Amino acid sequence: MPFWNKGKSREEKEAEIAILQKKQDVWNEKIAKGFQDHSHCIVCGRAIHFGKKYCSIECKEKYMNLEGKKGKQNKWMCMLMGVLLPLMMVLMFAFQ
Ligand SMILES: [Zn+2]
Repeated sequence: MPFWNKGKSREEKEAEIAILQKKQDVWNEKIAKGFQDHSHCIVCGRAIHFGKKYCSIECKEKYMNLEGKKGKQNKWMCMLMGVLLPLMMVLMFAFQ
């Protein structure tokens, strides 16, 4: 028996192979049903047509709202940094 098979009986290996074959069967079934080219909604994760990002308008709006908020936050962060950095520089030079 080769060393990489140590500790695994023949029955265990056969069971593993059976599981793998079952997985393959499920996948083949999905392909047969036309599920192979699909994406997932980036908001709720539902399966959707390939190339689309959202499953529904609601999800799209949800995502847009989230992105909008993030964008605003980033803008504020940038402005804050833009003000704070020169201030720090001035203070550093002023107290030398
Ligand atoms: Zn969705």
